[in-house]
Amino acid sequence: MKTSKQLFVIIALLGASFAFAAETKPAAPAGKKGGCCVKAEAAGAACAHPCCVESAKAGKNCEKCGGTNVAATKK
Ligand SMILES: [Zn+2]
Ligand SMILES: [Zn+2]
Repeated sequence: MKTSKQLFVIIALLGASFAFAAETKPAAPAGKKGGCCVKAEAAGAACAHPCCVESAKAGKNCEKCGGTNVAATKK
């Protein structure tokens, strides 16, 4: 029956999405900013270091200044 097959697919997709959600840690840190950038942010400004500005443009934290980036899983 077509309908039972469709139902099976829907259930399989739901199960897969649940498994994916369980694997995704909600509190996963999205990398760490460099100390200079943290200070600048605390002061309500963006870090003025050229290296940090470049990294920010690329949507990353400056690794030169001690920041870390999580390996991109998408894109
Ligand atoms: Zn910085
Ligand atoms: Zn920097």
